[in-house]
Amino acid sequence: MKQIYGKQNNITDYVLGRISTQNRFFLNRQDCILVDENASCCPRGYIATITTKTETKGSRPIVTVESVSDFVEGDVVLINKKGEVIFLFEIRSIHNAIFATERCNHRCIMCPQPPVVDEIDKTPFNLKLISLIDKNACEIGITGGEPTLIGDKLFDLIKQIQKYQPKAAISLLSNGVKFADKSYAMKLALCKHHDLQVDVPIFSDIADEHNRIVGAKTFYKTVQGLYNLALFRQKIGIRIVVHRQTYKRLPQFADYIYHNFPFVSQVAFLQMETTGNASDNINEIWIDPFDYNEQLQEAVNILDQRGIRTYIYNAQLCVLPESLWPFAQNAISDWKDTYLPLCNDCKLKERCGGLFESNQTHHSSHIRPYREN
Ligand code: SF4
Repeated sequence: MKQIYGKQNNITDYVLGRISTQNRFFLNRQDCILVDENASCCPRGYIATITTKTETKGSRPIVTVESVSDFVEGDVVLINKKGEVIFLFEIRSIHNAIFATERCNHRCIMCPQPPVVDEIDKTPFNLKLISLIDKNACEIGITGGEPTLIGDKLFDLIKQIQKYQPKAAISLLSNGVKFADKSYAMKLALCKHHDLQVDVPIFSDIADEHNRIVGAKTFYKTVQGLYNLALFRQKIGIRIVVHRQTYKRLPQFADYIYHNFPFVSQVAFLQMETTGNASDNINEIWIDPFDYNEQLQEAVNILDQRGIRTYIYNAQLCVLPESLWPFAQNAISDWKDTYLPLCNDCKLKERCGGLFESNQTHHSSHIRPYREN
């Protein structure tokens, strides 16, 4: 998540608000944070001001940052007591997500955001956050942790999005375990969202392998969850993070998906992010992505030739064989994207997903700028 560090005055609790770069009429300032590089105070009606002025006055919330060029009308940010400005919704991005919870019932060896055990219920905060998001947002993710751990409150979030962003598609990232409960899957269907996809990570066609990777004996629950979601005609995507412990059986796994889950609307292969648990377990799971191209190519062919939409995320085009370029998408979370200095000479940069910020140290040794016409 994009963050900007500033120096705050008069912020005693967090401030959650929508960015306004224009000075608004007094009655239209509710829940707005004024961004004005020349402001020296927080005008009445705004909940805070972000400025570049170091000399500020008044007793209302104000944050001084180096530059305001990153703020866009309609972004939604959280300002905390340390003066950090955290972007929770970026109006120019199509990869915005609501973090339903940081708790999880899995402990994946490559989890980039290791879960917490206890937390305060985030739902009231998230309901408020959704109410501040632009009504024309076209896509909103719901993620975690494992979002279904908040139980029926998940449906409150979905209904809130239906109310405030009626056109938005929802991508719900869930390990699928909770949907093994048929009544829970039915409740999701009863939300009657017009465009909701449940994206389910699953890592092997062998139960024990999947269970070892996720740190829980849940393979068959996830499988049952997929069947229940299909029973209620929910749109399903499958996500596979490719690393040393998953790459060898990609072709067999693709075949398994085709035979057992022919109802899925897409399958996505993701390059691994090397932070969190992945960083701790790097020696067990790291493989140069170039070294699994053969297995990836075969798996993509199996799915694509049988009519299942297939994507590859967060892969560098110069590392993939050209035959896989049509399947490569830009990053699944664009705020995590970065490029190496050598990418500046590359003709493919505009089309390339680049790499995760955290993969600056662990990345393929085959990254080369593409210079051909
Ligand atoms: S050199 Fe950089 S921009 Fe070019 S294809 Fe490789 S990773 Fe992408």
